[in-house]
Parts: sequence; structure tokens; C-alpha cells
Amino acid sequence: MPTMTRVFNFSAGPAVLPVEVLEQAQRDLLSLPGVGMSILEISHRSPTFEGILADCEADLRTLGGIPKDYRVLFLQGGASLQFSMVPMNLLPANGSADYIVTGAWSQKAVKEAKRVGSVKIAATTEGENFTRVPRQDELKLDPGAAYVHYTTNNTIFGTEFHYVPDVGNVPLVTDASSDMFSRPIDVSRFAVIYAGAQKNLAPAGVTLAIVRNDMLERTPASLPTMLQYGVHAENSSMYNTPPVFTIYVMRLVLAWLLKQGGLEAIDRLNARKAEKLYAEIDRTGFYRGHAQKDSRSRMNVTFRLPSEDLEKKFAKEATAAGLDGLKGHRSVGGMRASIYNAFPEAGVDALVRFMQDFEKKNG
Ligand code: PMP
Repeated sequence: MPTMTRVFNFSAGPAVLPVEVLEQAQRDLLSLPGVGMSILEISHRSPTFEGILADCEADLRTLGGIPKDYRVLFLQGGASLQFSMVPMNLLPANGSADYIVTGAWSQKAVKEAKRVGSVKIAATTEGENFTRVPRQDELKLDPGAAYVHYTTNNTIFGTEFHYVPDVGNVPLVTDASSDMFSRPIDVSRFAVIYAGAQKNLAPAGVTLAIVRNDMLERTPASLPTMLQYGVHAENSSMYNTPPVFTIYVMRLVLAWLLKQGGLEAIDRLNARKAEKLYAEIDRTGFYRGHAQKDSRSRMNVTFRLPSEDLEKKFAKEATAAGLDGLKGHRSVGGMRASIYNAFPEAGVDALVRFMQDFEKKNG
């Protein structure tokens, strides 16, 4: 296995990338075949980079079945800037937006939207420490809202929507940072999908935004140029210098994803990996999952141990055993195993064995 000197990286993001992708980036780093220069050195206006960007978009469109009336944008500023760009572009001065609050990232999205305009909370599971996402029948939706915003997968709490909220004719906006392209997605249900790339798509540095054309018409003319979706759309994400290396690696990741069989195939693999971990969590009661069963994330598996001392010991011994990055976010405590697309099933098997062994010794 080429990963002999690599640990199993359970980090929530930036996260593990496919080994083949890293190998190709390494092989071609000094000189891209036929170009004689490194991707780190070439102009973003060169035909080589324009080709990489075009291939990237084409593969995104193929993988996601992205309809023609959507623009694919490569932006910067992380998903965090989208917390602001969404309301700045889509929320009119006299309007109001609905937000479904399912964790720390949706709370941050609300905070930024409130700086721009009026926000209504359509539902929140904060009272249950975000152990689940709300059901459709719990959503209090305003039919006149400018849009509805939600977070598809809650990276910190380890919960995930397993349905797309029905919001009628109101535009639906989603932060899909931590489960983008982990399973098939019906883009036509959304007006805007955005995702920081550093979990399932690429290294850090680029944010993917898929924006339905009609959403480009709402932007107030006074908005600073770099914050306007329309400017990035008109300039094919080249209004200013895009993060060329990150986009190049995204190009390799997308080709890898297509080679795996696309989103249906990766979905099956992701489901299998997650089921193995949840089965171990449920096996005896020594481990306790944070998320309620019907809201469990297939990307971030959060669980507690009987005591904080045991959690510390678990994290320390796991790291020593080559299972890295398992310490959970401080707001949840315990462990978090992030098992994105590129995370190998062998790493999940190794963690399950480690959990069984740890329980035998400490249970
Ligand atoms: N939304 C979600 C769901 C996330 O997981 C993260 C980052 N972990 C963010 C937003 C913020 O992303 P960024 O760091 O790219 O701004």
C-alpha cells in the first residue's frame, strides 16, 4: 500500500485527499506534461490554466448533473464569506430570509445575514444541543421569504439532512461544505449551493458556488464588485487571480471521483464506511453517538466515551496507533471521525478494531 508512511487522517478539514491525486500533483509539480512549467508558476490567463478550469467545471457538471441554467463559480474567502455574500446578493432591503439552524455554522450564517437584513429562524435544534436536524413538519416557513438557508451537513455536531426541505417556490440555499458530492445531489432543487472545498473537493483556498441564473439578477448595484455573484459569473471566475493550485488539485480530485464511478458509487462506499462505525458505536453502550439515529452524518461521526479521562486516553492512544485527528470539537466533546470521500475504508476498519480493543481494556 502506498500509504505506508501515512497515518489515517480523520481531520474535519482540511482533510484527506486521494493518494493518487497527491502522487500526480507531486509527479507533475516541477513541470506539467507538455508545458515545461509548474502549475505554481503559470499565468491564470494561460491556455493551460484556462483548460484546467474548463475541465474542472465540465467534471463538476457531469458529476452533479448541473443544469444549464446554473453558473459554476470558483470563489475565495471560504464558505464563511458565503455567509455574507448570500444575503448581500439575495436579500432585498425590505425582505426577510428564513434560516434553519442546526449547528455552529448555521449560527454563523445567521449572524452575518442579520448584518444585512431581516432574518427569521424557521427552526432550530439548539435546545437539544444540535443532536438532530428538524423534520420537515417542524419548519415554520415564510412563503414570502427571499430565500431559505440551511446547512446540509453539520461538521461539528455530526448531523446531516437526509431530505431536501420542501420550501415551495422560495429559493433554497444550502451550505454543503462538508457533504458536497458525497452522494448524488439534485441541483435543480436549489437556487444556490456553496461549499468550502477543503473537505471533499480540494485543498483549502477555493469555494465552490453553484448559482441559478435568476439569482444573479437580485444583486444591488452598490455592492462591492468582488462580492457580486454576477461579476464572477460574467468573468468565468477570472475577475481576479483565482487560486490556481487549489483548482488544479480539484481537477485531479474530480477526475478521481469520476474514476470511482461518480456520486452513486461514492455514496455506496460512504454509506458502508459510516454504517461500520455506527454499528460499533451501537454495539455495547460503551460508546455513545452524539447524533440521534435519523440525523446521523455519513461524513462526521461524533461519539462520546464514559468519561472525559477515557476520551483523552482514547485520543492519545489512537494518535499513537496512527489514527490521527479524532479529538472532537470542544462544543461537543468526545471524538469525531471525519470520513470524507477520500478517506479509505481500511482506515474505518482500523478504527473499529481500535475501538473494540480500547473497550476491552477500559470497559
Ligand atoms: N460551513 C461548514 C458546514 C463548515 O464545516 C465550515 C468549515 N469547517 C464552514 C462553513 C466554514 O468554512 P471556511 O473555513 O471555508 O470558511
